[in-house]
Amino acid sequence: MDPLIEGYKKFRAEIWPAERERYEALAHWGQSPDTMIVACSDSRVDPQTIFGAVPGEMFVLRNVAALVPPYQPDALGYHGTSAAIEFGVRVLKVARLVVLGHAQCGGVRAMAYGAPPQARDFVAAWVDIGRPAFDAAPGKKLSEVEIGVVRLSLANLMSFPWIAELVAAGRLGLQGYIFDIHTGVLTRVTADGADAVP
Ligand SMILES: [Zn+2]
Repeated sequence: MDPLIEGYKKFRAEIWPAERERYEALAHWGQSPDTMIVACSDSRVDPQTIFGAVPGEMFVLRNVAALVPPYQPDALGYHGTSAAIEFGVRVLKVARLVVLGHAQCGGVRAMAYGAPPQARDFVAAWVDIGRPAFDAAPGKKLSEVEIGVVRLSLANLMSFPWIAELVAAGRLGLQGYIFDIHTGVLTRVTADGADAVP
């Protein structure tokens, strides 16, 4: 059987009965997630699983390397990431905006060593957003670049004027984390440190 359909059948049989009321309430009242997450598309780093969230709790955006571009409303191009951030922050009014990077990130690797030859139409230009983090990392170790990329995305979030305003007013909190796939450990990234969450 198609593994997607198999998974769906399992969802309908085992999860839906217990979660039905929650979904019905979410359909009736609409979503009002408290948290928005910007995470990597990497299949091993699912924010809902890592943070133990249920449907309706997290507005999630996933892209290559969990990057946030600078605020550029007049630039040419399709700003999918900035559009999701605008919707989450200004329409849904989340209270917390989290950047979730991870170890062994293929996007960060592409930023450091170049995108794979088959991924140069879009990936190469996209990961270049994080290039300043690579240039600023003293030892050029991928683990330190990964942390630098989270800090860069947080700094770029602050270039969105309505985010800076909400943060200054204490109505929006920004947080950065790195998830280590090998150990399952989450590290909190701040402006001057990176410490494992106890
Ligand atoms: Zn990644």
